[in-house]
Amino acid sequence: MKTKIRILGILSAVVLLGVCFAFRPLEEKKIIVIDAGHGGKDLGADMYGFQEKLITETIAKKIKALNKDSNLEIVLLRDGDHEMELSERVSIINNLKPDLVVSLHISANMNMSANGARAFIPSNETFHEKSKESAVIVIDKMTEAGNLKKRRITEAPFYMLKNASCPIMTLMIGFLSNEKDRDYITSEDGQNEIALNILEAVK
Ligand SMILES: [Zn+2]
Repeated sequence: MKTKIRILGILSAVVLLGVCFAFRPLEEKKIIVIDAGHGGKDLGADMYGFQEKLITETIAKKIKALNKDSNLEIVLLRDGDHEMELSERVSIINNLKPDLVVSLHISANMNMSANGARAFIPSNETFHEKSKESAVIVIDKMTEAGNLKKRRITEAPFYMLKNASCPIMTLMIGFLSNEKDRDYITSEDGQNEIALNILEAVK
């Protein structure tokens, strides 16, 4: 009798285990948030007839459109030309709990020879390492063909970097104030290449 009960116990444990495995997703979907900096009345850098808000929005949309990986979900924080508070962006991010946030921006400088791609990351202990790891991959990928110069990855006390509860980087794609960078980041081919490189790097 005791043996029968024991066998029944083992059998039900096996069945239960089977049920658990059957409902476990094969692979967790990776969620990447792409944040197009600025928007609406907030133009960001505005020179030579180009506006930062429109460049970041265009590249963000291209990243989403290029993604064909069913295990990767690209979420755009701003998919139209409207203003969005940084606190609103952070609250969406913290509700979503994504694997990574890439906030897209364009640099501008009085020194017109300043050029290249750089990234800012949070200094907090929890997300610094993972953010840095991702930023290194993104900057390497964006600069490997030589169209953009590789610049440094540095910590910065930016609002979104300080308040997002996940790995995050502010990616400064290139300089609108530099002629060579400007030609690249405002051209259709350049924007397609940048979007593809960012997508490949965050996969
Ligand atoms: Zn900006």
